[in-house]
Amino acid sequence: MNPTAYPDQTWSFTSTIRNQSIRMKRLIERNLKFSNRYAVTSISITGINSDWYCCDNCNRQIANKATVRTTTGDQYVIGLDCLKTLAQAGVLDKSNYLQSQDDIANAQLVASLIGFANDGGTVEKDFMYVTVTKGHKTKQCFSHLVSQYAPMFFERITQN
Ligand SMILES: [Zn+2]
Repeated sequence: MNPTAYPDQTWSFTSTIRNQSIRMKRLIERNLKFSNRYAVTSISITGINSDWYCCDNCNRQIANKATVRTTTGDQYVIGLDCLKTLAQAGVLDKSNYLQSQDDIANAQLVASLIGFANDGGTVEKDFMYVTVTKGHKTKQCFSHLVSQYAPMFFERITQN
């Protein structure tokens, strides 16, 4: 009998328990089950309150939406936080709209910028950046990200 078999098994058992407890604390499974896989088919960031919608995953009101589709063709509209949860759970497939978790972080950055603009910030745009200033606070995003995730907002500030 291999003398190291027992200690190894003990270690992996302990480690599995530890990982599960971290998972349960951080990732909460709601309406969209982690047993499915999801692909993002569109991301819409408007930051406009009248456009609010109820998240299909957590039932909370959301201003910014991601549409996801399961492999069986069911479609859901969820908020960016819930999209992040699905990504962390490892059940999001790569798609045109989502290559990595960085893409979700970028979408959240753009959402935060637009929220700041809607809150009375002054918007400036140049070749590289969209900058929003209000009082002493400044938020900045790459122009190409704003154009990618919030094309309507980008068009509006380009016309001004
Ligand atoms: Zn949600």
